[in-house]
Amino acid sequence: MTINEALALDAADPLAFARQRFRLPDATVYLDGNSLGALPVASPQLLADVVEQQWGDDLIASWNRHGWIDWPTRVAARLAPIVGARPEELLIADSTSVSLFKLLGAAVAARHERNTLLVQRRDFPTDLYVAQGLADLRGLKVRAVEPDELLGAINEDTAAVLLSHVDYRSGSVRDMRSVNAAAKAADALVVWDLSHSAGAIEVDLTSAGAELAVGCGYKYLNGGPGAPAFLFVARHLQSQLQSPLQGWMGHAEPFAFVDEYRPADGIAKFLTGTPSILALAALDAGLATFEGIAMADLAAKSRALSQLFIGEIEARCGDQVRLASPRDPSLRGSHVVFAHPDGYGVIQALIARGIIGDFRAPDLMRFGFAPLYNQFAEVVRAGEALADVLRTREWDQPRFTTRSKVT
Ligand SMILES: *Cc1c(COP(=O)(O)O)cnc(C)c1O
Repeated sequence: MTINEALALDAADPLAFARQRFRLPDATVYLDGNSLGALPVASPQLLADVVEQQWGDDLIASWNRHGWIDWPTRVAARLAPIVGARPEELLIADSTSVSLFKLLGAAVAARHERNTLLVQRRDFPTDLYVAQGLADLRGLKVRAVEPDELLGAINEDTAAVLLSHVDYRSGSVRDMRSVNAAAKAADALVVWDLSHSAGAIEVDLTSAGAELAVGCGYKYLNGGPGAPAFLFVARHLQSQLQSPLQGWMGHAEPFAFVDEYRPADGIAKFLTGTPSILALAALDAGLATFEGIAMADLAAKSRALSQLFIGEIEARCGDQVRLASPRDPSLRGSHVVFAHPDGYGVIQALIARGIIGDFRAPDLMRFGFAPLYNQFAEVVRAGEALADVLRTREWDQPRFTTRSKVT
């Protein structure tokens, strides 16, 4: 595709207006919104107001005057249409890792007569580490299986299953409905990690029969570096579960200051400590970038961008690279992965040209398409640049092959 053809697609794109909601540097093609979402235009002013007027002028009165105390649920409610849940089933708190620990801990306690925590091999490391730590704490065993063995591995000894919805490496999507159904049949609980799906593709927790989920605030949700995570507990389960990380903010009456813990009703019992107000303000602005956007349109654009990218790369680079994501867009999240033996250096050479993707060991070059702001013309520019880097072996220089701490 030529740049002009791609520009015509952008002109006809019904979501093109959403790009104006972001501040992106000129001459950068940002294909890493799956790792750190772009800065919303509204974020700096909103943060400045919360700091100067609320914190600065109103000080501690802000907990009531500006409703800070309710922000974990108020901001979470913005997520309801994005993940297909009811507002009262969502909460913003802590990091994804800590939220995972809470929900997985609650799940295994609710199935305490069972001994197995089921995970998928090569799932996102924090998920595996949280599962291992929790298993040690509770004397459970972690059973790690291949993706195609997972459904068959759920049985009457499975307390909980922990699973990414979209695989952070390959981008493949797990069918939520079938896993939830298999777990339900065995009376096991499933904790979904939506870090690479929420805000990128259609997620409908309620209709898929999901009961527990967590997800990351700083990727497609644009909440800023280290943004707090979200957690989801289906309404019917809330009264049956207890948070394993009890704290005063999850108490029924935090300001009664009593000695005995008594959990709040509903989702609020999954709070632990004082909410991070500045971080919540940034996430609020991030979630506001989804206002008025139908998730079906967002998902359609995600597929259109990533299909175009695959077509462009394969046409321009041939067999120098190998597609390591599912080819069928219905089986894929919003990022596309190509393998190349010198992928690290290739990505660094692209970054030097202003095309930002990332690398995942051992040889995967990952390109994320954030449907709110990425454009078809950017896809074509990235394809041209990658072909050029490969043709000239531009990556084969020490400045591109020396590894950084964060990749
Ligand atoms: C990014 C990501 C996380 C992030 O966890 P943090 O605790 O917020 O650092 C967790 N799980 C998956 C699958 C991710 O992709």
